[in-house]
Amino acid sequence: MIDYRTLDVPGPTITDLSRPFWEAAARGRLTIQHCTSCNRGVFYPRPLCPHCWADALEWRDASGKGTLTSFSQIWKPGHPGWLPAVPYYVGLVQLSEGPTMLSHIVDERRSIRVGDQLVFKSVPTGSRILPFFHKI
Ligand SMILES: [Zn+2]
Repeated sequence: MIDYRTLDVPGPTITDLSRPFWEAAARGRLTIQHCTSCNRGVFYPRPLCPHCWADALEWRDASGKGTLTSFSQIWKPGHPGWLPAVPYYVGLVQLSEGPTMLSHIVDERRSIRVGDQLVFKSVPTGSRILPFFHKI
């Protein structure tokens, strides 16, 4: 089992728009935008709702539950800081609130399948706390 705290990996580029997501993740919460005009969840962070174009987006805590819709096993990471973690999984998670999120997927048994139920969990790395999903 990898100790992610030992990884020296680059953190995300945090903007004013995405700051609420990253600050919530650092506190162990999954927070996404919600459109109060069409009542749909929105991810990634943006200034207008992609469904109805309203500027009526607010931040709400999500359930943290989702379904794996696609994944890849990574053997050659894009940054050498991830080398101690290979092989690891990156996948698309459809949140129970609707939006799809690209995330690191933790499964120590290495038995993930499309359709698996996942749960959000923030994981400290050497440089930053990152949002991951774990197989239930
Ligand atoms: Zn909307």
